Amino acid sequence: MFFDDTIAAISTPIGKAAISVIRISGPDAAAVAGQVFKPLKCPLENLPPRYAAYGKFYAGGKIIDDGIAVLYRAPSSFTGQDMVELSCHGGMLVTQCILEQLLLAGARLAAPGEFTRRAYCLGKLDLSQAEAIALTLEAKNRAALAVGAAQREGILSGKIKDIFDEITDIVASVYVYFDFPDEDLSDVGPDELKSRLLDISDKLHALLASYTTGRAVTEGIPTTICGKPNSGKSSLLNRLLGTERAIVTDIAGTTRDTIEETAVVGNVTLRLCDTAGIRETDDAVEKIGISRAISAAQSAELILAVFDGSAPLDGDDEKILTLVSEWSAAGKKIIAVINKADLPQKLTEGDVTSRADFDAALRVSAALGDGFDKLADIISSLYIDGSLDFGSDAILTGARQYSAVEGALHRIESAIAALEEGMTADIVGLDLEEALKKLGELDGRSVSEEVVDSIFRNFCVGK
Ligand code: GDP
Repeated sequence: MFFDDTIAAISTPIGKAAISVIRISGPDAAAVAGQVFKPLKCPLENLPPRYAAYGKFYAGGKIIDDGIAVLYRAPSSFTGQDMVELSCHGGMLVTQCILEQLLLAGARLAAPGEFTRRAYCLGKLDLSQAEAIALTLEAKNRAALAVGAAQREGILSGKIKDIFDEITDIVASVYVYFDFPDEDLSDVGPDELKSRLLDISDKLHALLASYTTGRAVTEGIPTTICGKPNSGKSSLLNRLLGTERAIVTDIAGTTRDTIEETAVVGNVTLRLCDTAGIRETDDAVEKIGISRAISAAQSAELILAVFDGSAPLDGDDEKILTLVSEWSAAGKKIIAVINKADLPQKLTEGDVTSRADFDAALRVSAALGDGFDKLADIISSLYIDGSLDFGSDAILTGARQYSAVEGALHRIESAIAALEEGMTADIVGLDLEEALKKLGELDGRSVSEEVVDSIFRNFCVGK
């Protein structure tokens, strides 16, 4: 891909703000910006790089705004090309007018993520670092911020590079050993090679395990709240979200459809789905809601099963308990949330947990907010590996990263098996080279154009 044209885009959100930032990148960045922005002291092209210069923005020979320009010279810029960052007043129209002037002066409107893509293609950052930028933009909790910062600093890439280098070294040893089997090369014999490969396999296993935490912190866990009508599902959802998103009434069956929201519970992001109450009913509309509730639970990974603690279990609860047994057999994590703890209690935790397999049970009061710290701790203990340090450990955060590491592990295990079976060098070496290719997908050393396209397509324009 060639980047010989000059692109421009508004990098701040569109709307009224104190300032907007417009970025320009490409060989003609200074010349293009210089036609629109005139610094007080000298032409923009003569500015010393990376200094802020005050000046005026012009359109059709008239001043339309004043602001600041910073000129960056290749390769010392975000993209690695010549760049200009213009800060103007943050009105929608003024920002738009300045962008138009830049386009008239010869820039092209940047595609989504094109600045970051240029940075990646010009070697300023690798693919996992580019993904970490998106992670930081999307972060919904402090842990996600720390993981994003660590990944941008290259912690994950560094770890992958170490493993990559080690495998490369082993590939060389494999060929040496098999080419010169009679020489005394005790450090590259099959036992030594195997133990080094086992060590790599341990490291890859640890990385794969980190994804449970990484995913919980960043993209989130698909979660469903289920329970009979009036058990307090909507109140629980609102409490978790901290807003009045779902309608709470004491008329059974008010939530007829599913509601989807993102809640941050401690350091875990829950992709929450509140559903219609599950019960026997003749109401046709409610029936549709109930079947949607059941299918939402089927596609969730975590289920918060809500029971009304102020009343004994009834037939509708029994129906939920039967479903809970099915869901837990299907590998879902299920927490029994016994609600209405502020009222006199008619239900013990044992009444619920003795009837189906729950991962945990607790009492809360969705009305008063009691028990929610404990709920956060329970969710955290299910998904967060406490031994990981968000700011300094390599943590996988995306399905793409996971599948690259999984693919590499698969090849390493196959190389170990080949060694054990006394296979020839080309077989063992081939596995290792495939493992390298898989790992290379993670930082972008060996990745298809389509994958790169799909990563940057998800960025916004101006990023
Ligand atoms: P849903 O049908 O399961 O979504 O239940 P709602 O959240 O709509 O709540 C049903 C009724 O129970 C409403 O009148 C709520 O105010 C009440 N409620 C919910 N949670 C609590 C709680 O923790 N304590 C008490 N006392 N009432 C609650």
